[in-house]
Amino acid sequence: MDLEQLFSQYKEQSIEGRYITLDKIYPVLEKLNTNHQLEIIGKSVFNYPVYKYQIGTGEIKILLWSQMHGNESTTTKALIDFLNLLNGDSEFAKKLLHAFTFCSIPMLNPDGAKLYTRENANKIDLNRDSQDLSQPESGILRAVFENFKPDFCYNLHDQRTIFGVGCTGKPATLSFLAPAYNEEREVNNSRLKAINLIAGINAVLQPYIPRQIGRFDDSFNINCIGDTFQYLGVPTLLLEAGHFPNDYLREETRKYVFMALVSSFEILNENDIVINRFDEYLSIPQNKVVFYDFLYKNIKINYDGIEIITNFAAQYKEELIENQICFNAYIVQISDLDNYFGHFEYDARGALYQDENNNFPTLNQKANFYLDGNVKFVNGLILK
Ligand SMILES: [Zn+2]
Repeated sequence: MDLEQLFSQYKEQSIEGRYITLDKIYPVLEKLNTNHQLEIIGKSVFNYPVYKYQIGTGEIKILLWSQMHGNESTTTKALIDFLNLLNGDSEFAKKLLHAFTFCSIPMLNPDGAKLYTRENANKIDLNRDSQDLSQPESGILRAVFENFKPDFCYNLHDQRTIFGVGCTGKPATLSFLAPAYNEEREVNNSRLKAINLIAGINAVLQPYIPRQIGRFDDSFNINCIGDTFQYLGVPTLLLEAGHFPNDYLREETRKYVFMALVSSFEILNENDIVINRFDEYLSIPQNKVVFYDFLYKNIKINYDGIEIITNFAAQYKEELIENQICFNAYIVQISDLDNYFGHFEYDARGALYQDENNNFPTLNQKANFYLDGNVKFVNGLILK
């Protein structure tokens, strides 16, 4: 199967970028609502509807939810691309709909999506609320879980650009975890199913994004939804969409999330998860915080007559300004920064730092500066 071709065929063209809100996805869901697949299953704090889209008649029940964290929209885009595929009337779609029943919640946190925040409107992280169930959105997901009784859960997120695959200097474009179900991080049958499935997805995706797949730390936290569902005996996968070089809008990563979803259902359909692939799973390197968006090396700084050569880093803040996400680069670290990487790296070879403030880099200041008086950097990048 040609995953690239499938993606270009079913990619939802009306949705793109990072700022994905309910009013952007609703028309697509409504278009796909040809046979009462779409249902309102509750309301958010701000009284926005939370939708469920259910399709398929198969025995294996798959529950997927996305944008539990409002500013993590990449998997929502890929999930909708996948719903397009399921509605595409191909032989492959028929096979999937015959084998599976898919219950999806494409935007669990519409308020956070609107505000472009991780948390919901009450500033609660829904992924730390799976025991208290203090928020309406947490209750909605739990009710669907209890009524639908899934065989597999897909917990879909985005991760920040700071994560690399081990210390390889490669960004973690996708990351996976089969969450633990107890403090001892033991592996029981149901967790093993998630582990085997992740190992299978990794094997399919490696040729497309070589060494750009990471594995999350599996320390147990029952307040996290994945850990709770795993604890309740349902194999659960955490999938995190991450950085691909120069793809801050995550349109390239969207494709790999789509491929991961499609290949996972092929694997499940062929019952390819019965072989123990635990070692293969463990061979996926762990995620590490090793990246900044910008890393400037060998910068000469003049602190009141004392010259030093150092490095500094800047990071984009994603700021919602007039209904647009702006990527604004701020200086976040000044030190040797050995063992760190930059998605953009610049070796100044001892050039003198100057700016319009104090002529030395200052934390939380915008990354606008000059080197040796003639190379101008604006918002982190060289102005040409
Ligand atoms: Zn998240």
